[in-house]
Amino acid sequence: MRARDALKQARARLGESGVEEPGFEAEFLLRHALGCTREDLLMGLDSEASPSAQLLFKSVIERRSRGEPSAYIIGHKEFYGLDFKVDPRALIPRPETELLVELALAFAARHGARGEGLKIDEVGVGCGAISVALAVRLPGARIVATDISTAALELARENIVHHGVEGRVTLLEGDLLGPVAGPIDILFSNPPYVRSGDISGLGREIRDHEPLVALDGGADGMAVIDRLMRQARDRLAPGGAMFIEIGCEQGKEVTGHARHLWPDAQTSITPDLAGLDRVLTLYTPLPIPQPT
Ligand code: GLN
Repeated sequence: MRARDALKQARARLGESGVEEPGFEAEFLLRHALGCTREDLLMGLDSEASPSAQLLFKSVIERRSRGEPSAYIIGHKEFYGLDFKVDPRALIPRPETELLVELALAFAARHGARGEGLKIDEVGVGCGAISVALAVRLPGARIVATDISTAALELARENIVHHGVEGRVTLLEGDLLGPVAGPIDILFSNPPYVRSGDISGLGREIRDHEPLVALDGGADGMAVIDRLMRQARDRLAPGGAMFIEIGCEQGKEVTGHARHLWPDAQTSITPDLAGLDRVLTLYTPLPIPQPT
């Protein structure tokens, strides 16, 4: 079968099974099956695909049409310009989460280009994307990352090794900041923040395939964020910063809680590229020097 015809059939199959953007997804998965670039594919649309590539393509299209996310099917995902191994052990990194990295890097830049001596913590490391992205950019920082999921920590370990940042990121198993002592200069997290009652309404790619523990934020979606902020209260260093990804409707509430816990801190909400509230930023004040 020519690549062009395989693509047409796949597009129809994905479309009828309710996959969004079936043309894009079919092409993406065909490139995976053929192991080729977009340019190669477009040049070779009239060539015969090998029988093994056709078989592989058929099986990935079946998996995708049953709702499995493309990133799990091909086994990796790009985040902040780096390639990460992904599988159902952890959430697939989202493009909007790159905002956490940008904000944390902008803050770290105040301490020099290498982040020398900074103590950074991530809560809920998942596949390791954010911590690895920061470790690559900040060779002088020491990052401690926790997760409650043993499986996610295994995947994070693989990504840390793949990117050669073993010496910069320490993984600890435990609940939120439980295993971490302060003081922390930069704390960041993409915690579960979806309301439990909204989980069943998520797309099947998320609901049926990604780990619930990474999504479910309790009845009001704020349970984990709240606990995390209360734990962070005594661990965040003076002059430190905290960046937490939030749901787009949680900006006001989360800001209220943060101001209650840190009345003297500077808090703000940053929207993502879609214009939706996405990250809570909090800077704790430096102590005012006392006259001697
Ligand atoms: N933004 C994610 C989603 O839409 C939720 C991630 C999370 O709860 N941290 O599925």
